[in-house]
Amino acid sequence: MTTRNAMTVDVEDYFQVQAFAHRVARADWDRFPRRVEANVDRILAQFDRAGVHATFFTLGWIAERHPAMVRRIVASGHELASHGWDHTRADRQEPEAFRQDVRRTRALLEDIGGVPVTGYRAATFSIGASNQWAFGILRDEGYRYSSSINPIAHDLYGMPNASRVPYQPDGNGFWEFPMTTVRAFGRNWPCSGGGYFRLLPGVLYRMGLSRVNKAEGRPGIFYFHPWEIDPGQPRIEGAGWKSRLRHYTNLSRMAPALDQILHAFAWDRVDRVFADLLPEQDRVVRQHATAA
Ligand SMILES: [Zn+2]
Repeated sequence: MTTRNAMTVDVEDYFQVQAFAHRVARADWDRFPRRVEANVDRILAQFDRAGVHATFFTLGWIAERHPAMVRRIVASGHELASHGWDHTRADRQEPEAFRQDVRRTRALLEDIGGVPVTGYRAATFSIGASNQWAFGILRDEGYRYSSSINPIAHDLYGMPNASRVPYQPDGNGFWEFPMTTVRAFGRNWPCSGGGYFRLLPGVLYRMGLSRVNKAEGRPGIFYFHPWEIDPGQPRIEGAGWKSRLRHYTNLSRMAPALDQILHAFAWDRVDRVFADLLPEQDRVVRQHATAA
């Protein structure tokens, strides 16, 4: 049987990424023209053509401003999940601030979407050795899984010694689904999308994912951002060369490259790909508080 992989989208706009955080203050976000809704609509159409369902890890800040977009994500059959409120790194928050952040985001997403929200991805994969307490808080707050650890060495994130495969951090039914890596030459190599997918030849990604599917018999997790398919986005002034390289390279090739992997592999939502690990939901869907 073909292994199904998890397709995921981190729903944030081009001015909210970690690489530009030193150039763009949160207080100024509302001054930027937003492009996320138009880009998400293109992604929804592309997924629809390919017959793929995905998980959309969405910022509360974005959902508050684009509720109709959130409802279209749900109406198209995708999983709605949380990317936290405003892309603050989880490892720069105190536990109580983190709790308020993930609580507020989940409540808003459930109110707008009218569906249970049980998945979480930390901004910039910022759960690591210093903040393992985050898992307990996520569980307390009603989440069932996180996909927040990237078991690689990277200058902005990463926990190279973390598990490469799904595990229960506290052994209590709450799961972490780490980003996909390929094991070679004694270390973990990224194989989950993001900047690497745009910067490296597509064949490397496909070989890596095939190896994870066939040799290890495990699903992979792919992620990208709506701004990655948007070559016309405004450029952020004063960003350094490394940030520019990561953010702007091959934007025009992203949509076709995505199409290629959508057809080369089988994809589904995170909650369905890992359904054997996640017990059936027994919780009543919250009432639609902001019905429109
Ligand atoms: Zn993000």
